[in-house]
Amino acid sequence: MALAAAILASCHEPETASAGADPVISAAVAGVDIDSVRTYIDELVTFHTRHTLSSQTDPQKGIGAAVDYLAGRCERWARNAAPDRPQPLVERISYTVGENGGRYDRVTEVPELMVTLPGTRAEREILLMAHIDTRVLDVMDSTKFAPGADDDSSGLACLLEAVRILSQIPLEQTVKCLFVSGEEQGLDGSRHFAALARRENWPVMAVLNNDMIGNVRASGTELVEDHKLRVFSESRNGEDSDSRQLARYIKEMAAIYVPEQEIVLNYRTDRYRRGGDHSSFLREGYTAVRVCEYCEDYERTHQDVRTENGTAYGDVADYVDFPYLVRNIRVNLAAVMNLAMAPDRPGNVLLANAGELDNHTVITWEPVSGQDVSYQVLCRETDRSEWMPSLPTGASGIVPSGAPLEFSCPLSKDNYYFAVRAVSPGGHPGLPVLAR
Ligand SMILES: [Zn+2]
Repeated sequence: MALAAAILASCHEPETASAGADPVISAAVAGVDIDSVRTYIDELVTFHTRHTLSSQTDPQKGIGAAVDYLAGRCERWARNAAPDRPQPLVERISYTVGENGGRYDRVTEVPELMVTLPGTRAEREILLMAHIDTRVLDVMDSTKFAPGADDDSSGLACLLEAVRILSQIPLEQTVKCLFVSGEEQGLDGSRHFAALARRENWPVMAVLNNDMIGNVRASGTELVEDHKLRVFSESRNGEDSDSRQLARYIKEMAAIYVPEQEIVLNYRTDRYRRGGDHSSFLREGYTAVRVCEYCEDYERTHQDVRTENGTAYGDVADYVDFPYLVRNIRVNLAAVMNLAMAPDRPGNVLLANAGELDNHTVITWEPVSGQDVSYQVLCRETDRSEWMPSLPTGASGIVPSGAPLEFSCPLSKDNYYFAVRAVSPGGHPGLPVLAR
């Protein structure tokens, strides 16, 4: 009987591993360079302001010069890309703002940037995102000094390191780095990108929006957390939304590749009264999270640079914690690279015996494309947030390549949630799908 065979299979530890570190990814993660990161941020703040409505023609100041700088760096890395990987592509993109009023005093075209690092298979895309634009207290002020060292040069530094490092490494799936503008004016740049993705049918697997990942101090309470990073995932589709699976995945990969950084899963779309560019992709139905520092400093973000009653205000580079930022960039790389080497999500994951009074659980699913893909069944108790590393029976839950796509275990479906994910021959797990 198939069921008995499956139970038997589940009791033996198969050879396929899924939780070990990939040496290529470990080396890439270690390659994130603090001096490079410091240089990017020092250079980004020299543009005085990167406000969405700031100058596009001044060679030294404003968003136009900043986009030239970002594009210049990426074009250089693209030209020197490793010969064994598909050629990276740097594209300047613009979109129209101000047609519907909002935080704009005129109708104009504003720039942004997309860097595509094509995969060798290129069936799916992982998007890394950060915003170029900055602001001061008055969101309409496009000329005042608005360095935006943390908000969001820290995120831009993450994208720049990703382009620099991944231009040297062939990955199976495509990674796109989206440098967006218009965030502070109302998420306009990311909305433009999300609509473009929908219109052009980008095969997006995951979106990681990095917005403020370099500050460690909480103003007012003086709490300092330099080993915690938040990942926000939406709650509106329940606790097992695809975005939440992505958030848990980032935490799992960080535990393997950047164990000194604790990922705090925040089961909210974003912070109170504030949003981010991932929301634009959520609205289009994509799997998207926000990666963000644990503590926020309101004496920095959106402030005019000044000293008042002995307190210094403003988002200047002095307050960025570079070792912390480097660890957060490493977390991004670990997650993105694993996703780019992982198989797709399995389809139609079902609790096959949900209608039966039975203390076993039987799960079935549809295969994903790719040779030698194995599968891993995950579970957790209903009040737990994260998938267990192995099943409570002691089994790994791995269904080897070529075995029937069915798994049975002596655990009650009433006491656990179950999910299935596909695992590459190299041991890179994909995103899990909850069994319905
Ligand atoms: Zn921001």
